[in-house]
Amino acid sequence: MKRFTRFTRLTTLSALLLAAGLNAGTAQAQLAPAAATTAPASAQSEARKANIVIIGTGGTIAGAGASATNTAAYQSAVVPVDKIIASVPEISKVANVKGEQIFQIGSESFNNERLLKLGKRVSELLKQPDVDGIVITHGTDTIEETAYFLNLTLKSDKPVVVVGSMRPGTALGADGALNLYDAVLVASNPDSRGKGTLVVLNDEIHTGRDVTKSNTFKTETFRSPFGPLGYVVEGRTLFFRLPARPHTMQTEFDIDKLDKLPEVAIVYAYGNVNPASVDAAVKNGAKAIVFAATGNGSVGDYMVEPLKAARAKGVQIVRASRTGSGVVIRNAEQPDDKYDWIVTDDQLPQKARILMALALTKTNDPKELQKILWKY
Ligand code: GLU
Repeated sequence: MKRFTRFTRLTTLSALLLAAGLNAGTAQAQLAPAAATTAPASAQSEARKANIVIIGTGGTIAGAGASATNTAAYQSAVVPVDKIIASVPEISKVANVKGEQIFQIGSESFNNERLLKLGKRVSELLKQPDVDGIVITHGTDTIEETAYFLNLTLKSDKPVVVVGSMRPGTALGADGALNLYDAVLVASNPDSRGKGTLVVLNDEIHTGRDVTKSNTFKTETFRSPFGPLGYVVEGRTLFFRLPARPHTMQTEFDIDKLDKLPEVAIVYAYGNVNPASVDAAVKNGAKAIVFAATGNGSVGDYMVEPLKAARAKGVQIVRASRTGSGVVIRNAEQPDDKYDWIVTDDQLPQKARILMALALTKTNDPKELQKILWKY
């Protein structure tokens, strides 16, 4: 990748503030509160422009429809990242950006190999002293899995922001341009450092740990059960909360040391679920099965024996919930101690799949695995 052509330039004000040991953003707000409320082009960009790499992976933000009224029926992953960046000239006022196309796919096509490739490239870029932050353009369908994975495995406190859109750029009311502008603002802001991998859409900043897609077509689709971390509005990045669970620098997982992720399958519960789906997962080499169970992890009477049989073969069994939120209580709906099973904390099945795959690179002891599920 080419180096940035414009390097960090400190203004006299920021140089003085740094010399005084002050955070430039905070100090500027203290010195000039009126300017902060009236200058939408962002007080954060006045000190210096951050160097941000925008990695394109595809999704609707790179999509195009046949007409402007095609807001939900269109082809995703067709517009190159450099073209997307060029379509939002306002970005160049807040950061020096470079585009890099790593994939051009719908995010449903992410798999372990692609996840690892993306993570390793992000890690490589974060190590460059002239890179201040990363933005990843991504399909919205699996943003929550990629963001959680990066949140758990990157070893840097520089901001990493995953962004997508619900409407293609060709649509009336397209949301991608503003989402991308907001993502660059957040990635450029020193206040975003040390907060783990973030997801920015629809004026909100979410932690990659909590966020999930909750609607198939609305722009207001991303939700975190405990609320977003903050807003992006009028060019300002506003944080109100901090992630409570360990992430990035604080975890035991390191993207640079991961070459392969163990197979973890999800079996979805429903009335009349076929027990053969458990056997299929075992035959396919699953090291763990996340059972996306009903309610508080309840397991149908005809499913208990197949899951116990899988455990007897060494496969870890994780009870999760298909409800969309809440914690699964150990030894409540099922005797986990007796069966040597594990429960999720509040992780959705697809997030528990990511965490279990990482946890299994560390241990195969169900007690230790349980601790990891409760920790992250
Ligand atoms: N299925 C596509 C994807 O996830 C399009 C959905 C979107 O990006 O909003 O990449």
